[in-house]
Amino acid sequence: MAQLLLGQTLTFTADPFHALVSEATRHERRGGVLVEDGKITATGTADDLRAAHPQAKITDYGDALIMAGFIDAHAHYPQTGIIASWGKRLIDWLNTYTFPEETRFTDPAYAAKTAARYLDLTAANGTTTIASFCTIHPASVDALFDAAKARDQRIVAGKTCMDRNAPDGLRDTAKSAYDDSRALLEKWHGLGRASYAITPRFSPTSTPEQLEALGALWAEHPDCLMQTHLSEQLDEIEWVQRLFPKARDYLDTYESFGLLGEGGLFGHAIHLTEREKARLREVDAALIHCPTSNTFIGSGLFQMGALMAAGHRIGLATDTGGGSSFSMLRTMAAAYEIGQLTGTALHPAQLLWLATSGSARALRLDDKIGNLAAGMEADLVVLELAATPAIAQRSERANDFWEQVFPTIMMGDDRAIVATWINGKAVLPRS
Ligand SMILES: [Zn+2]
Repeated sequence: MAQLLLGQTLTFTADPFHALVSEATRHERRGGVLVEDGKITATGTADDLRAAHPQAKITDYGDALIMAGFIDAHAHYPQTGIIASWGKRLIDWLNTYTFPEETRFTDPAYAAKTAARYLDLTAANGTTTIASFCTIHPASVDALFDAAKARDQRIVAGKTCMDRNAPDGLRDTAKSAYDDSRALLEKWHGLGRASYAITPRFSPTSTPEQLEALGALWAEHPDCLMQTHLSEQLDEIEWVQRLFPKARDYLDTYESFGLLGEGGLFGHAIHLTEREKARLREVDAALIHCPTSNTFIGSGLFQMGALMAAGHRIGLATDTGGGSSFSMLRTMAAAYEIGQLTGTALHPAQLLWLATSGSARALRLDDKIGNLAAGMEADLVVLELAATPAIAQRSERANDFWEQVFPTIMMGDDRAIVATWINGKAVLPRS
């Protein structure tokens, strides 16, 4: 049966980094979204849609904002239990917190429990699609795909591959990484709403042989994505130089093994050389900005303004649990703050675009998700724009929609999430 959701609505008609906000967005103060069989079939004014679809079941969200669900373009669901762990920088953080926790995913029951908890937490924060790393254990990949399938949820995931510089119990081999990744890819990629991403953690934890094997796998399955990390911290970059003395730079450790291409997702990408930027732009690979993680672990400032101006494909992400929040609202706020520190005040339309259409574009899923438009899959978030007293007293003074929504971007969290819809069904609150 057709469902008609009423409230304020926001649609992107262009990329607000490369078009005027007034031309890139369509906002209805009293709008509607028609949902049928998991798809958005119409958007418009509430009055027009009511008149055209008198049989539709109506859910009226009042003054709340209905928009595309948030898309987190880089996360580690196995780190759910260690989010907000104190006081380390990247390599220490991995050794002290991440690797011991990831060892626990040898237990499929623990993986299943964590995957379900993670998807519950992210849905409670309005996130409807995630690109996640798993652990080296194939069961950790099955656990996340199974949990997403049970929720009809679009998901991107892959087995994390590491065959060196990781503790016992967390290393595979070049051959097993290839074999296990291929088996998981053939099992899950394109099944329902699942997409597989070939996933070397990062160059320091893969031998050249493993990177080469994964490059070969990607060449055999070019419609898959490839996700990894790039140039997050300066001492990490020095380590990469020592491990790969012949490489021109960090990116070259991927490029020379067939791991740079369209469909590549490079998390962080903070300290890039001119050659790296040029090559990433040339092949149109995606850079994934992880602002809460970059400040939490002390990594540095992503150059959003310059990289966008140069035409890079950029998504936004929490990087849970190196990131300090499951909330894409909190992540947008951190992106705004880092923008300010690098001389670019991101407009609220740009922040909301990054968290939806921008991330969908990075994941090459923008023909399916990331916008409130007819033909798109019905993954939605409904935001209360006065969810706390502090936000309410600010938003009530707003002179226009952007001024009304910005306090929720800066001060909002899961209390602002009125509803999350996945594939045409309200998963929060449950219907
Ligand atoms: Zn990461």
